Amino acid sequence: MARYNDAVCKLCRREKQKLFLKGSKCFSERCPIEKKNYPPGQHGVSRRPKISEYGVQLREKQKIKRTYGVLETQFRNLFEKATRQKGITGSNLVKLLERRLDNVVYRLGFATSRKAARQLVRHRHILLNNELVDIPSYIVAAGDVIKIKEKSKKLDSIHDSLKRVKEGQYSWLLIDKPNLAGTFLQVPEREEIPLNANEQLVVELYSK
Ligand code: SF4
Repeated sequence: MARYNDAVCKLCRREKQKLFLKGSKCFSERCPIEKKNYPPGQHGVSRRPKISEYGVQLREKQKIKRTYGVLETQFRNLFEKATRQKGITGSNLVKLLERRLDNVVYRLGFATSRKAARQLVRHRHILLNNELVDIPSYIVAAGDVIKIKEKSKKLDSIHDSLKRVKEGQYSWLLIDKPNLAGTFLQVPEREEIPLNANEQLVVELYSK
């Protein structure tokens, strides 16, 4: 499946904020955005181009897509799904992204990035309600229990990553560190989701 192969830190610099794409590096002083907080490229420091309304909307869409590591077609499909749901389309979109299995595995602390979480899912380390699920885009529902498969519990990367999260860090997740498990208690409200983005601009972009 296609994925972004560009140097991922450049994506953060392009959006001028941390997108947390590189695992433990993102939480350390090695994160380059601290020192190079300007867009990549030869003219990144000096050039301050005027951005059109379309450009602003596009940047916001790219930021959200890249944060969750979703490609255009999947993102568009989720948007269409969000428009069919009751409520505010932009909020619905963010909630759907947040319910992706790879994202939930990341939030539970089993991986240091969404990309690593996707690998865990694809490599069949994850059980959902005691069934193996290897589809990263699977949409998790309230009450679903996510666990590390018994044979995979000795993976050091999972234990190292778990140190990053605190039990109770996210109100919609119950994290059971000793058992390498977690429950998706309910779909979070948009305000609870730590995503620094204006999803309404995506709605405006796709409504053109
Ligand atoms: Fe972004 Fe992480 Fe790279 Fe920092 S280390 S620029 S947060 S991907």
